[in-house]
Amino acid sequence: MFDALNDKIRDLTPYDPIQGTYPIRLDANESFLPISNEILQEAHNAISQLAYHRYPDPYAVQTTAAFAAYYGIDAELVTAGNGSDELISVLMTAFLMKGERVLTFSHDFSMYRFYAALIEAQCIEVPKNADLTIDVDCVIHMAAEQRVRMILFSNPCNPTSLGLCREEVRRLITSVDALVVLDEAYMDFWDQSLLEEVLQYDNLIILRTCSKAFGMAAIRLGFAVANPTLTRAIRAVKSPYNVNAVTQAIGTAVLKKSQLLRDSIQTILSAKAALFAACKELEQQFPDRLHVYESCTNFIFVQTPDARQWYDFLLEHGVAVRCMGDYLRITAGADEENDMVTQLSKQFLNGKGES
Ligand SMILES: *Cc1c(COP(=O)(O)O)cnc(C)c1O
Repeated sequence: MFDALNDKIRDLTPYDPIQGTYPIRLDANESFLPISNEILQEAHNAISQLAYHRYPDPYAVQTTAAFAAYYGIDAELVTAGNGSDELISVLMTAFLMKGERVLTFSHDFSMYRFYAALIEAQCIEVPKNADLTIDVDCVIHMAAEQRVRMILFSNPCNPTSLGLCREEVRRLITSVDALVVLDEAYMDFWDQSLLEEVLQYDNLIILRTCSKAFGMAAIRLGFAVANPTLTRAIRAVKSPYNVNAVTQAIGTAVLKKSQLLRDSIQTILSAKAALFAACKELEQQFPDRLHVYESCTNFIFVQTPDARQWYDFLLEHGVAVRCMGDYLRITAGADEENDMVTQLSKQFLNGKGES
């Protein structure tokens, strides 16, 4: 019998997000705001005029221009991808040879490790400090000692919700002999981006996504930003028509609405602040049961010995969050969703969760 499955894929299982219908979804860090009617109308107009029988623009020129204009950067430095997830895969495939070393952290975004394994790169996971902060000196040391070719991490971090300040990221980039892929998926919620200075480095690629702050997870649109030499290489290695025409049209329409986007971010940040305050209150009432981390993102990260039971209790009541070992990750939702998760959590901590 022919065995098509090799060792690197034999034990893999398909990605399995929480399925089923839960009235309240706070598990995937999406925006809780639906796209506004005004933008929706423009998106409809844009796609009604598409030449559906033609391949899309391979370089998504209008979309990258709209993205660049929003951030005040040069569109020549921007490459669009089918979600930043695709770009992570493309960058790893292209910039690493089999067996070369890529440095990531634990805990960080789980897809980094996954793609590294697929291309048979060696993934070195540097543990974070006990308080989940990053020890930059340790990273610099490890990168040199292990002859690491690529360093890949999210800032602010998913899942920890913590951010590494700009000065420390700069120090890391300029102190290593490695390509730094800086995943700024949540940087729209914080103010320490390096987007504007990407030209200053020959070893920096920044990833951004429309899936979180901009509320467009459904259309799959992400961007890589880097100097012209790196950008040329990224464009050369990506598949030609990686971003479909519908996504390009809708993405362009949304990205042009800069004021609406900025307003949405403020709304999400207020919701996050309310959820954070509510969780902090629980922490004060139950100091032995949970610790809430500072949040530079649109979600809250909680350490608790009761993570699994707490998670199950919420799920039984129709609220989906993410459970990761001794931690819960709760995305900020609308007011009533945040109230619901807070009330249920209080019930759980008061002992009504024991069955
Ligand atoms: C959600 C997320 C992504 C994926 O973004 P897509 O553009 O939807 O693929 C990438 N990195 C991090 C850290 C994320 O949390």
